[in-house]
Amino acid sequence: MLIKSAEFVMSNSDVAKCPKGTLPEYAFIGRSNVGKSSLINMLTNRKSLAKTSGRPGKTQLINHFLINKNWHLVDLPGYGYARVSKSSKKTFQKFITQYFSFRQQLVTAFVLVDIRHTPQPIDLEFMQWLGENGIPFSIIFTKADKLKPNAINNHIEAYKNILLETWEEMPNHFITSSSKNTGKEEVLHYIDNLNTN
Ligand code: GDP
Repeated sequence: MLIKSAEFVMSNSDVAKCPKGTLPEYAFIGRSNVGKSSLINMLTNRKSLAKTSGRPGKTQLINHFLINKNWHLVDLPGYGYARVSKSSKKTFQKFITQYFSFRQQLVTAFVLVDIRHTPQPIDLEFMQWLGENGIPFSIIFTKADKLKPNAINNHIEAYKNILLETWEEMPNHFITSSSKNTGKEEVLHYIDNLNTN
């Protein structure tokens, strides 16, 4: 898919206020600092469409972007940042839960996972919750440039082994590096296919 246009639409913390209409929507979520903003900027060919931030946990809103005038890319807040207060964690959980439960335009979520780490409970719990609630998702492994191919395979195997304890198959997954500009076409092609089906 060629990205011809990418525009910021709105930010809010209330699913009821998200854009109306029937455009298909794809949500990106993951732990703070996982590389979500960098990935969104890589996918859309923009330097700072999504704000990369030196202060994780800063963007606590649902951010809608209109891509090619025919689908929405949604940048959701990063989860699991220790320095966020308990009360803001609760608010976060509430509106994210509502977003996933009520947003009918959502086609699929992309759960971002830093390829360098062994499977983390917080990511596994989130995927489990998505699965239990019937929300389709794929995994996007980020920062692949930080590991050698062997280590990448080992880490993906580790995920497979854990996920296959509860899932029938490994969720669809992508290996990306925003630094090296890799994995982009695969993700965009996947979205393109879903949009045209
Ligand atoms: P976010 O908090 O999930 O939006 O993460 P950011 O996109 O702001 O990135 C967090 C940090 O990881 C920044 O220092 C980025 O430069 C770095 N980073 C993001 N993507 C990559 C990548 O693909 N490779 C490497 N090596 N570093 C990355």
